[in-house]
Amino acid sequence: MKRDSRIFVAGHRGMVGAAIVRKLGAAGFTNLILRDSRQLDLRDQAAATAFFAAERPEYVFLAAARVGGIIANSTRKAEFIYDNLMIQTNIIHAARQHGVARLLFLGSTCIYPKFAPQPIKEEHLLTGPLEPTNDAYAIAKIAGISMCRSYNQQYGTRFLSAMPNNLYGPGDNYDLTGSHVLPALLRKFHEAKAAGAPTVTVWGTGTPLREFMHVDDLADASLFLMTLDEARYDDLLAHPEAPALINVGSGQEISIGDLARLVQQVTGYTGEIEFDRSKPDGTPRKLADSSRLHALGWHHRISLEEGVRDAYGWFLDHVAAPS
Ligand code: GDP
Repeated sequence: MKRDSRIFVAGHRGMVGAAIVRKLGAAGFTNLILRDSRQLDLRDQAAATAFFAAERPEYVFLAAARVGGIIANSTRKAEFIYDNLMIQTNIIHAARQHGVARLLFLGSTCIYPKFAPQPIKEEHLLTGPLEPTNDAYAIAKIAGISMCRSYNQQYGTRFLSAMPNNLYGPGDNYDLTGSHVLPALLRKFHEAKAAGAPTVTVWGTGTPLREFMHVDDLADASLFLMTLDEARYDDLLAHPEAPALINVGSGQEISIGDLARLVQQVTGYTGEIEFDRSKPDGTPRKLADSSRLHALGWHHRISLEEGVRDAYGWFLDHVAAPS
């Protein structure tokens, strides 16, 4: 990828796409092609194809997706499967038609079976039933991985899928009905502190384990993969057990209860924590095995505590008291 290569970051208004744009800018890439969903509805095949024909991107970061936390995923499954299938299908197909050199398809570790052995390796894909709260989203993402592999095999494209764990950071969704756990907790503890409320309610039992990564680390890993030398990139595509698929994890695993206590500390809330067991726990554990990425020399940099402080700062500036 050259400094003036034509790079399409699909989904640049989302948390992940925005982080990739910041990273590319900081690394000196000057020719970014960006469209928000009002300018270009990626679910519309004709529009997506016309866009590729006109702009001819050479590299694509596919970060456009419908995403959400456990309740959004389990109550709006139709939107999650439809929007994700349409967006990724249109982009992957157009990328092949228009000769895109490399495409990085971003998903999530929820593609793996609910009871996959931990830590989860890339080859555990499709070895068991999915976690039901996000199966529609996961099946869409699995279809995307399969599509990249199939296009690589039949058409000789060089598309790679990267599966990060639970992400958080600037630009996250803080709307409690759709958000993931970390932004939800930052908001709940912040508001409870402001209101002097005696308790904060955390969903589920507090025992599920999740692995968290700051989105700036994911953006760094995405650029690392996109610019990997040809030989090592080809090795990833041709991996005998799990071709064209790589986990991007931090190894920073924590229980939801301990996460709540960390957020309590960061926000300075002094009341109690209570667990609402009527809400779902989701999968008991979701730790990615990122040894394939680590063997290539990439490691995350932002610790969970540092990252949570950074996310809280962003929340204070942009959500709690936007300027
Ligand atoms: P998941 O990783 O796909 O299950 O998605 P989430 O980030 O939404 O949830 C992770 C875990 O945090 C689940 O066990 C939730 O029940 C738990 N959790 C606790 N409190 C909350 C909350 O306020 N919002 C969300 N989204 N999850 C919460």
